[in-house]
Amino acid sequence: MRTVKAVGRFAPSPTGPLHFGSLTSALASFLDIKSIGGHWMLRIEDIDPPREVLGASDVIVRQLSAHGLNWDGPVLYQSDRLAAYAVAIAHLKSKNLAYHCSCNRKRLSTLNGVYDGLCRSLELTPRDTSVRVRLPSQPTSIEFYDHILGDYYQNITHHVGDFIIQRKDQLFSYQLAVVLDDHYQGITHVVRGSDLIDSTPRQIYLQRCLGFNQPWYAHIPIATNSSGQKLSKQNYAASLKQGDESLTLWSALDWLQQSPPTFLYNSSVNEIISWAIAHWNPKKIKPSLSIAAPPGF
Ligand code: GLU
Repeated sequence: MRTVKAVGRFAPSPTGPLHFGSLTSALASFLDIKSIGGHWMLRIEDIDPPREVLGASDVIVRQLSAHGLNWDGPVLYQSDRLAAYAVAIAHLKSKNLAYHCSCNRKRLSTLNGVYDGLCRSLELTPRDTSVRVRLPSQPTSIEFYDHILGDYYQNITHHVGDFIIQRKDQLFSYQLAVVLDDHYQGITHVVRGSDLIDSTPRQIYLQRCLGFNQPWYAHIPIATNSSGQKLSKQNYAASLKQGDESLTLWSALDWLQQSPPTFLYNSSVNEIISWAIAHWNPKKIKPSLSIAAPPGF
């Protein structure tokens, strides 16, 4: 019998250095896969140059290493994968599963985020258009089991409609690139923040269109600041402090409800990581969309 290797991944966008929230996602996906002897891949999702911060990729790579989160194999940069994304778009179009759309921003702003399919049957040429995936003509619901939040259900027809896979400015969408690369890297386990659970049904739909296997999903709570907002660059979340790696790891394990012993607090990064792999228990994570970050983060 052929056994499939368990493969997890961390897939940050290089929009700034890691903060406590991004570290908890990296740590949870790392521990989850290492606790079952799998591989952990690092993928830099650098396909949106306007949002990218110069040098952020290198900072992220250094921060992960400093926290003992060592990935397997080379780092995959999505900016090296543009030809593969274009091939997938051509394939979806040839199967009539994608089409060009010329709707402008003004029109889309009247649709409340759910595309009404105006361009579906217009057979537009590529010039100045975006590309949308074609959902089935009957309303389509996607259900999956999330290993932290439980059963999840979304009617993608009513929630988003035919969604964009390539923008008018030619940039490829996150939804398309993430599905193609999870498949390309053989990812079996996706552990990431709960803010992305809403995207998962779209990704499952694309996996089905492309004949890919569906990974195992677990969405962990996102870390929030004292105003209840997700820690993010936009909310001025603090970058992880160099020299505080042990404290940060211990706090992240505590935040993930893994009950790290207090003596571990003063241990080396490698000792903390070894303890955490041996004691990883995802069932202890509170099934919640968000949890406040500890003071100081
Ligand atoms: N690049 C995405 C982000 O930084 C995460 C992608 C994913 O984990 O699916 O928010």
